[in-house]
Amino acid sequence: TDACLAAIEGAGALNAVVHGTPDKAREMARAADARIKSGDATPMTGIPLGIKDVFCVKGVPSQAASRILDGFKPEYESTVTQNLWDAGAVMLGKLNMDEFAMGSANENSCYGRAVNPWKAADGRELTPGGSSGGSAAAVAADLCIAATGTDTGGSIRQPAAFTGTVGMRPTYGRVSRWGVIAYASSLDQAGPMTKTVRDAAIMLGAMASVDEKDSTSADIPVPDFEAALTGDIRGKKIGIPREYRVDGMPAEIDQLWQKGADMLRDAGAEIVDISLPHTKYALPAYYVIAPAEASSNLARYDGVRYGRRAKLGQGDGITEMYEKTRAEGFGPEVQRRIMIGTYVLSAGFYDAYYNRARKVRALIKRDFDEAYAQGIDSILAPATPSAAFPLGAMDQADPVQMYLNDVFTVTLNLAGLPGISVPVGLDKQGLPLGLQLIGRAFEEGELLNQALVLE
Ligand code: GLN
Repeated sequence: TDACLAAIEGAGALNAVVHGTPDKAREMARAADARIKSGDATPMTGIPLGIKDVFCVKGVPSQAASRILDGFKPEYESTVTQNLWDAGAVMLGKLNMDEFAMGSANENSCYGRAVNPWKAADGRELTPGGSSGGSAAAVAADLCIAATGTDTGGSIRQPAAFTGTVGMRPTYGRVSRWGVIAYASSLDQAGPMTKTVRDAAIMLGAMASVDEKDSTSADIPVPDFEAALTGDIRGKKIGIPREYRVDGMPAEIDQLWQKGADMLRDAGAEIVDISLPHTKYALPAYYVIAPAEASSNLARYDGVRYGRRAKLGQGDGITEMYEKTRAEGFGPEVQRRIMIGTYVLSAGFYDAYYNRARKVRALIKRDFDEAYAQGIDSILAPATPSAAFPLGAMDQADPVQMYLNDVFTVTLNLAGLPGISVPVGLDKQGLPLGLQLIGRAFEEGELLNQALVLE
């Protein structure tokens, strides 16, 4: 804990930690020490963690990197963080992210950008990815041993790939969403961001629980994920989905994918060609469904219940209060998503957009069901279409350019499946690249065991 606190002090330029809690960390570390001495430690006892700002931590600012939650200190603890503290983990502080987890570069944050500890060959600063950019940067720069993330459309796996770390999104329902500030409730899922696959297995085991406070928490016991790590994947069937070979995919991503397939084959797995025919509709369906749910979830920020309220002028009534508070409290990307969301849910367009996207979502899920019904154990694909890009590279771009970054990650969120991104190689500049394995629902142990082979 002391080493991490010192590293955080020296790493202000990364802007990864947005609210440090050093006193709390030292106190928790002392308690962990005592627990270890008394012989009742868990593998998480005394492990210093960073917590993405989207998790409510009692008495600590928790604002999902949004100005609209300025001053909000929750009166309650998220189930995930409570589970981690119960296991003896130590809280170092809150980590940077995109506002309300909307973004792929950690550039939509009220705290400013987070910076990737890896640098481009020409010295330019790079994005750590998003939305869990602060988590990925903090793990990669050794500011913490591991961090929590959330993944609605790739926000754990893409930043992990951009920083050479491991990121796992569990099956929807495996980890409680209670006390996690909502973005798109049918897609959101918290997961571990770590340095190794083994750490991910240990941390997922501590985060997961059946939770009556979350009605979508699955009533399925949490197995010992670490015990599943045998390294034996002989006879497993791993699918290579041909539709992920998108136009203009850089040769180095293709080579990385080939390398991953070879590693799995060398370990005794069978590599098979599969088809997920509706893949190309995943991105548009995601960018209808996620904003629709976001527009509804963000309606609660009204200047009354939480956080910030705008200063009002003479004669301003409640409507002006709402309008001014929301106009100054939400950043531009969040406002864009609210507008898209309310548009696709509006009476005149509901069938054309939202309902159609839901139907497409069902087809995407069916693609996976059919692949798994053929005996496929997992699916191997790139995590991202490129290595980390320079900070600000997308500033002038059309927002759709940024959305295209999520082409490989959003599909499994629509299907509710688990996925893990593992660093497998470097691009020609020497920057990390990740591959992802997509698993069967609630078989994270199996997935982690296969991921071990890619490490
Ligand atoms: N980049 C995607 C988005 O902006 C995914 C974000 C996430 O997984 N939270 O919506």
